Amino acid sequence: MTSAELRQAFLGYFQSQGHEIVESSSLIPGNDPTLMFTNAGMVQFKDVFLGSEKRSYSRATTSQRCVRAGGKHNDLDNVGYTARHHTFFEMLGNFSFGDYFKRDAIRFAWYFLTEILELPKEKLWVTVHISDDEAEKIWKDEMGIDPERFSRLDEDNFWSMGDTGPCGPSSEIFYDHGADVWGGPPGSPEEDGDRYIEIWNLVFMQFNRSADGSMVPLPNPSIDTGMGLERIAAVLQGVHSNYEIDLFQNLLKAASAAVGCKETDTQSLRVIADHIRSCAFLICDGVIPSNEGAGYVLRRIIRRAVRHGNKLGATGPFFNSLVAALVTEMGDAYPELKAKQAQIERVLLKEEEQFAKTLDHGLRLLEEVIEDLSGTEIPGETVFKLYDTYGFPVDLTADVAREHKLTVDMDGFDQAMEDQRNRARAAGKFNVDYNDSLRLDGQTEFVGYTQLNGSANVV
Ligand code: ATP
Ligand code: MG
Ligand code: MG
Ligand code: MG
Repeated sequence: MTSAELRQAFLGYFQSQGHEIVESSSLIPGNDPTLMFTNAGMVQFKDVFLGSEKRSYSRATTSQRCVRAGGKHNDLDNVGYTARHHTFFEMLGNFSFGDYFKRDAIRFAWYFLTEILELPKEKLWVTVHISDDEAEKIWKDEMGIDPERFSRLDEDNFWSMGDTGPCGPSSEIFYDHGADVWGGPPGSPEEDGDRYIEIWNLVFMQFNRSADGSMVPLPNPSIDTGMGLERIAAVLQGVHSNYEIDLFQNLLKAASAAVGCKETDTQSLRVIADHIRSCAFLICDGVIPSNEGAGYVLRRIIRRAVRHGNKLGATGPFFNSLVAALVTEMGDAYPELKAKQAQIERVLLKEEEQFAKTLDHGLRLLEEVIEDLSGTEIPGETVFKLYDTYGFPVDLTADVAREHKLTVDMDGFDQAMEDQRNRARAAGKFNVDYNDSLRLDGQTEFVGYTQLNGSANVV
């Protein structure tokens, strides 16, 4: 089954169960200052869950484009390192707004996986929240799940969109990719491995978390589920990694050709194939590279991709040329991508050209520092110089450091930033804009760090 067929099978099944097929919303949440990017299918329905918005339907199903590259759900640093994480992915979901609850949510999911997709039950593992007797009973007594493959967990089974907003206990379904992949079942010490991959999360939406942490019950218990299209496609196509599915194979080939390397599947190619999706779709949804907020996250992702291309031997702009391959893969499902192809290519090309001016010099500096390094930490001053003079976002330097099994000195970086601000302030007294003379690309304010690992959703 191709990814496109799978998307249709999912939407079709839930439509047959009384769900309205709703279009994916934009990656930029309308009307929600707490969230930088749409990170789950429920985001466009947030106000419906909260009871402040009414729709003409009480059941919906979507294939929602999502980005997890900032805020509470940030997978940027996982890309290239796990088989299952992307910055951009599609989340298949079914939703109930005060209509059905746990029993039907579990029943629909189990039926879809085991009857429609015909997955073997013994490959599926299930978890519920530690407090959830009701869900355990449904799974064991009604679905007949083997207790061997069932567990109750704590934080992993409580889902929230961000620090505030709708949330609730969840039940997760995992697929066992087999003993030749490292990893342990959910709840075990080796669960972060990629053997047991979470495919579907069923959230029993019951609360609205406020800024002070208190949890207010929602007007109607509701259902929000999310299943990664790429993960379930991997299962159905009999491959382990998301990067081995049809869609990614084609993007990897295109990336390999664009940078002119011999290999067709390396870590750097995977990063590039991942990043072209988030970058193209973010631009499609109106983001442009800048030094603040969403625009800075976009810039950071583009520059990371360009750096990986450079590592593979690309000698000129290449990233923008991958938009065509992406349109071939996804243009039918997302006509707006096709419509804006030329514009997306232009934005990417411009950013590539701009970064190319400093990338080589910056990388050379970094290599020299790494060669002469006595410890395992890249000094904050270097990280700052790369950021300030060469336009290297901190996470890009951290990405290079990680490849050398090194870390970056964030405290030193912050200090260097502070020192520069003080100098600029002092210089300002004499009407010299120190910032302008230093910056190559008009950077004004560092906004990347809090978005790098921070749990806060910063806009
Ligand atoms: P994981 O534990 O593997 O990081 P998660 O628990 O963070 O996943 P959820 O927030 O529950 O993920 O999202 C619902 C579903 O979306 C997941 O079960 C998975 O199938 C998919 N998904 C989540 N994050 C990603 C990602 N970065 N790339 C691809 N698919 C993802
Ligand atoms: Mg996650
Ligand atoms: Mg999880
Ligand atoms: Mg989950």
